[in-house]
Amino acid sequence: MRGLVTKSTGSWYQVLADEGERVECRIKGKFRTKGIKTTNPIAVGDWVVFEMEPGQETGVITHLEPRKNYIIRKSVNLSKQTQIIGANLDQAILVVTLASPSTSLGFIDRFLVTAEAYSIPAILVFNKLDLFSEEGLEILQEYKAIYENIGYACYEVSAQEGTNMEVLRAILKDKITLVSGHSGVGKSTLINAIEPSVQLKTGEISDWSDKGKHTTTFAEMIDLSFGGKLIDTPGIRELGVVDIEKEELSHFFPEMRARLNTCRFNNCQHISEPGCMVLEAVELGEIEPSRYDSYLSIYNKQDSRG
Ligand code: GDP
Ligand code: ZN
Repeated sequence: MRGLVTKSTGSWYQVLADEGERVECRIKGKFRTKGIKTTNPIAVGDWVVFEMEPGQETGVITHLEPRKNYIIRKSVNLSKQTQIIGANLDQAILVVTLASPSTSLGFIDRFLVTAEAYSIPAILVFNKLDLFSEEGLEILQEYKAIYENIGYACYEVSAQEGTNMEVLRAILKDKITLVSGHSGVGKSTLINAIEPSVQLKTGEISDWSDKGKHTTTFAEMIDLSFGGKLIDTPGIRELGVVDIEKEELSHFFPEMRARLNTCRFNNCQHISEPGCMVLEAVELGEIEPSRYDSYLSIYNKQDSRG
């Protein structure tokens, strides 16, 4: 039988069979993801083939179908290993807020780079619109402009008041969407508002305060009654900018990617090279300084080729 993995707890996987029933499955044999060591061989969003165990209600996964894409992060416990957060995604939403708590531009940019690296369309949802003063609304428009200008869709919502939920439902319809965001931005409140039949706990103790404890959390797929599915990523503070070589980083900044072939040197890293058109664009205000700062900050942390 074939099915979609909708939940994983490390040793058990919930599979939604094509026939409609949900079966708790174990894994038989080894499943490897090419090029990376993972703590979880199979992830939410994977399509698998499974067999029922004789005389049991449970199943055994025997085959993993090739993935369209997947997104990973570094494992909290084992630094050399990575965890697959979700597979076969159509798009990824980052929920952000400009107040209580405020999401930094660096955080947003790291998320966007990750999504670019895995070729997953990324969407920014600015939540807690109801809290914004007039001045706050101006800043919101500035932030949105930064990202809309380089091609990212941005939406402003209030999960608490239900503002713009119809707009969000329209972009989620019939898609598999990963939903991410640091703790406290209202991700759970938003999911509850989009799909009132799910009631995730809100206002939970954040992963920030849990830092240091060995809390392992797992992504879960949520059915949308109007069509489509969400992959919630509870407790995942940040996706990892893993396996990107620094030499390639600028490919994952759309506004830099557009200028790559215009620099004087074709191996230009856009740091201080003469004839660098990226640096010139920053100088001219055509590339946002905050975006360039994020580039430098990620660049300095990434490993080099070879
Ligand atoms: P999560 O950690 O991202 O899942 O955040 P929660 O959904 O638990 O929300 C964190 C806090 O923000 C809770 O106290 C929510 O009531 C509050 N919150 C969520 N969305 C909104 C909103 O749109 N406006 C306001 N004012 N508060 C919100
Ligand atoms: Zn350059």
